[in-house]
This record gives sequence, C-alpha cells and structure tokens, in this order.
Amino acid sequence: MFQLHQQLVAPAEQLDPESGLIRVGGRLRQSSDLPPDAIHPVVLDPAHPITKLIIKDCDDHLHHPGPESFFAELRRRYWILRGREAVWKHQHRCPKCQQSRAKPIIPQMADLPLARLRLCKPPFYSTGVDCFGPYTVKIGRRAEKR
Ligand SMILES: [Zn+2]
Repeated sequence: MFQLHQQLVAPAEQLDPESGLIRVGGRLRQSSDLPPDAIHPVVLDPAHPITKLIIKDCDDHLHHPGPESFFAELRRRYWILRGREAVWKHQHRCPKCQQSRAKPIIPQMADLPLARLRLCKPPFYSTGVDCFGPYTVKIGRRAEKR
C-alpha cells in the first residue's frame, strides 16, 4: 500500500542527474506536447548572480513588460524561489522599467500677463508681427545667426 502511494505522488523536487540541477517535480510528467523545460523547470536561488543575469536577460528580451507577464514568461523555464519578489527587485532597479513606469509631471506655469487677458475685445486688438527672422551669415567657413 505504501509503495503504491509513493508511485502515485510525484516528489516536489528532483535532481537532474545529467546537469546536476534541481528541477520541479510537478504533475505534468505525462504531457507529450510541452517542452521538457516547461514540464520540469529549473529551481533557482533568487540571490544567486546567475539568476539575476537570467532575470535581466529575460527582461531585456521581452522589452521590459509588466511584472506579472514577465513572471509568467520566466515560469515557463525557471522556478525562481520567491520569484515575484526577485522580479520586483530587478524591475525597480532597471532604468528602462523605471522610465516606462514614470508618471508625467505637469510643470508649474506662471500667471498669464495682463496683455493676454484682454477679454471681450475684438480679434487682433493687440497683435505683433515679426518682420525679421534670423539670417545666416557666413564668416569665413562658419555660419552664424544674426
Ligand atoms: Zn527592465
């Protein structure tokens, strides 16, 4: 009875004898459509430098997506322990991710001058025309605006 129970329940993790890596056991052993890495993803330590490089490479490859889709893509091949936290840490340090997360800041503007507040006046009551533009003058071999 005990042996039958052991055969039915898959172990949580298993050691890959070829590569020496720890892989997730899972319940997808019978699947023939999935690639082997998706059936048994590699278990990784979030603090290891190789793991950080894998996260950085995946983030660059996917062009800095949102944290959940990025985490889902990582899970296809790697099972990073405390993975959401590792992804969050990486994306908060990544300059490109910071740029995509940034909120625009509305600049503070000064009050309008009185000349622009002449309400209820006819159109073109106060106008200006710029008759001269900058001319490009050649001095020797260089050109200057005058
Ligand atoms: Zn990024």
